[in-house]
Amino acid sequence: MSSVVNAEPYRIKMVEPLHMTTRAEREEAIRAAGHNTFLLKSKDCYIDLLTDSGTSAMSDAQWSAMMLGDEAYAGARSFDNLWNAVEEFYGFPYTCPTHQGRGAEHLISQILITPGQHVPGNMYFTTTRAHQELAGATFHDVIIDEAHDPSAIHPFKGNVDLDKLRALIDEVGADQIAYINVAVTVNMAGGQPVSMANIRAVREICDEHGIIMWSDATRLAENAYFIQQREEGYADTPCAQIAKEMLSHFDGLTMSGKKDCLVNIGGFLAMRDEDILIKARELVVLYEGMPTYGGLAGRDLEAMAVGLREALDDDYLAHRIGQVRYLGERLIEAGIPVVQPIGGHAVFLDARAFLPHVPQDELPAQSLAAEIYVESGVRAMERGIVSAGRTKTGEHNHPKLELVRLTIPRRVYTNAHMDVVADAVIAVWQRRASIRGLRFVYESPTLRFFTSRFEPLPVSPLPVHEGTQEEHALAH
Ligand SMILES: *Cc1c(COP(=O)(O)O)cnc(C)c1O
Repeated sequence: MSSVVNAEPYRIKMVEPLHMTTRAEREEAIRAAGHNTFLLKSKDCYIDLLTDSGTSAMSDAQWSAMMLGDEAYAGARSFDNLWNAVEEFYGFPYTCPTHQGRGAEHLISQILITPGQHVPGNMYFTTTRAHQELAGATFHDVIIDEAHDPSAIHPFKGNVDLDKLRALIDEVGADQIAYINVAVTVNMAGGQPVSMANIRAVREICDEHGIIMWSDATRLAENAYFIQQREEGYADTPCAQIAKEMLSHFDGLTMSGKKDCLVNIGGFLAMRDEDILIKARELVVLYEGMPTYGGLAGRDLEAMAVGLREALDDDYLAHRIGQVRYLGERLIEAGIPVVQPIGGHAVFLDARAFLPHVPQDELPAQSLAAEIYVESGVRAMERGIVSAGRTKTGEHNHPKLELVRLTIPRRVYTNAHMDVVADAVIAVWQRRASIRGLRFVYESPTLRFFTSRFEPLPVSPLPVHEGTQEEHALAH
């Protein structure tokens, strides 16, 4: 492992110029985007921390592999290369490619869920829960309580709460649990990892009750790194070996290749049970494409086969997680409330603590993300009440976590960029008292955070007393 943890373990051989904007241009851009950072144009974002999904820089080896893509409609060599890589590095004998992670989530939800059944998981994820509900299941959050507290320090804040899982089994009956879905790491909790011991313990409960144990393995390489750094007995084990051991406990996984396979598009379903593979192939031809390409080009399969190994490299992971931690520590030093410990793919600002004067129904995280953009051209994303959507009866879900996510793409930005981001957030922190909430002007009925539009709440009439003028100036 490199001793200079924060220096990049790669050099740059292609560059993409960035567009710098003025504050006036950004104010206009955020208005045109309905105060939703998802609706901003990429050219208007100087540093784009919207997501780490599909935004990675590919390596020379991946680009070379793309040239070898076999674009045959059926039976392409590129499919065999992906299949072999999944078997070698993840240990699953069967793979079904899909256009991205949610394609795999759709298939597995349709295959394993009988309407009326239940699916426990270590915190919800937007697309994951949406597909489970679409298939007729009820989602149950069985993550440990610490995960819902931004300041609770726990080395494995993504762990499944075994008592909550047992209580659910007692309540609904094991035969009414379609499967348990364990995310590694847990995106919505702040990129928090799950320990090997917890994975083993969940496996024991599943074995005891005959429950299928699935993984949302989107960030499994980052989870493996945290196990190496934090769990006793793994300090000298390569991350690749840790990842394989983690996955050995699962019956299968859904993968968004756009994260820990270092590609711009792609995903897959992998499993041990041939019957599930057969059902997946029946569905994949309907929704994605032939079972040997699953909605992807041969070159995409090649890039994913190479990327999944690169993401398990110890030096790559030390730099990757180190860069996220670098940004997080700069904000912590400035006294800014962030989710701790710093997770694997992003720094999450605690919008409730950042804007205590904005109630959750006035969408504090959505508002804060818009302010950070206007300040600096840094694009972040809301992970709070807007992302949480509405209940089946039409009420807002009120998640305990009301967060803004600064998500770091893999191998894309330098630590100098991280300094720009930190300075921008600090500047917004210094003028936080003047930041107002937002309200919906258009609310999309599905996954509303992607396309809804907002406007600032009107300034409430200020009480008449000394200093009103000053307060009024602050409110603008
Ligand atoms: C991104 C993501 C997904 C969905 O994957 P897509 O490739 O975006 O469809 C599922 N689960 C988690 C935890 C994710 O972060």
